[in-house]
Amino acid sequence: MNLSRNEWVLGEISRIVSTCQLCELSKTRTNSVPGYGSPSATIMFIGEGPGANEDKQGRPFVGQAGKLLDKLLGTISLAREDVFITNIVKCRPPGNRVPETNEVRVCKPYLMAQIAIMRPKVIVTLGASSTKSMLSPSVAISRIHGKLQIKEGIRFLPMYHPAAYLHKRSPDLLQAMKGDFKTLEKINSQLE
Ligand code: URA
Repeated sequence: MNLSRNEWVLGEISRIVSTCQLCELSKTRTNSVPGYGSPSATIMFIGEGPGANEDKQGRPFVGQAGKLLDKLLGTISLAREDVFITNIVKCRPPGNRVPETNEVRVCKPYLMAQIAIMRPKVIVTLGASSTKSMLSPSVAISRIHGKLQIKEGIRFLPMYHPAAYLHKRSPDLLQAMKGDFKTLEKINSQLE
């Protein structure tokens, strides 16, 4: 099998993650969820952490929020196989609680390694947890969603988490999300 360099390194990261015991989340996980998608993707999506379905299947965003993410990707003619999808923490926080500071601290090096090897052109942070963790704890998703941010030379495009729409069912929110995907399409095409 002729693996690309990215594919090989991402596979090694996944292998290490699958036996990781650096935090308490390892004790309650069924499967770790390292990430899914194209190893050469130019767009990376970062969510908060796996939920129950993701824990069962070992893949990110396979539940209702994932279905909506697929639809939003479809609005800009992309499929999940064209991008790379991962999370801030690679194991499910029990009851889908927000990951704790220590869990993020010990897990983030896996994410940083994924970013370092893939060097995506733009990273979409989905929701407040992911956005705060990657940019700054003081940012408000309602203010910066859809606005390109640059930190340490890396481009970030914060967006609302698809679960926010599933929770609120607000048409305005859905419109905002679709608008942010259009912005992503524009950024990605300008950087080609
Ligand atoms: N929500 C997330 O933030 N990540 C997943 O993988 C699934 C749901």
